[in-house]
Amino acid sequence: MSKGSRIFTKNINGLLSLIYPRPCLICQSELPENQNHFCFLCLENLHFTDFEKYKESTSADELFWGRVKIQHVYSCLFFEKGNSTQQILHTIKYKEGKDLGVYMGELIGKRIKDNENYKSIDALIPIPLHSKKGFVRGYNQSMVIAQGLSNILEIPIINAVKRKNHHESQTKKNRFERWDNVKSVFAADQDKLKGYKHVAIVDDVLTTGSTLESAARSIKNVKPDQDISLLTVAIAK
Ligand SMILES: [Zn+2]
Repeated sequence: MSKGSRIFTKNINGLLSLIYPRPCLICQSELPENQNHFCFLCLENLHFTDFEKYKESTSADELFWGRVKIQHVYSCLFFEKGNSTQQILHTIKYKEGKDLGVYMGELIGKRIKDNENYKSIDALIPIPLHSKKGFVRGYNQSMVIAQGLSNILEIPIINAVKRKNHHESQTKKNRFERWDNVKSVFAADQDKLKGYKHVAIVDDVLTTGSTLESAARSIKNVKPDQDISLLTVAIAK
């Protein structure tokens, strides 16, 4: 950008913030023009897990022990009812939170970029949405988070996991089969995984881990030696 257009952009942003003051998502105080979504103080006080600093396994890693082999599980923030993380997740999921989703993906990306555990990740796989929900909201929150990650880590997003359609997964099943089916709502595409050694599945929040487990299993079904990590904005405390 030239100096002239930089000054122009700066002035326009300054002018816009006079007309449309942008509040901090957490404390509602007016944001300085060079800050997005959070003021400095609220950004500093987000409930960071600091999992990237752990040498030993984290509570996120341990959640998957004995279920499916996962290389590393990273969640950026602790989620508790009523805390700022809940506000962030809610905004990404139900409101006009596309920009915030990308921003949170970039925040995760910056924290893990030079970390040994995540260095070998070479592709991102967003958890696909129920098509009905995506239609209402207009976007998939996992996809926008993956977009932010992709911006920082400079690796591609591949849609290698799909949701099986409702008809396929629910009709004419007995109770046991229906229960079993909850575990396999996803199907992976072997061709799209080709050439990638270590993929990361991306989701907004980690609670029981059943969705991520199911997605990881669908990948292992078609490519048993695929290394898989999981990246989420938040983990339930
Ligand atoms: Zn604030």
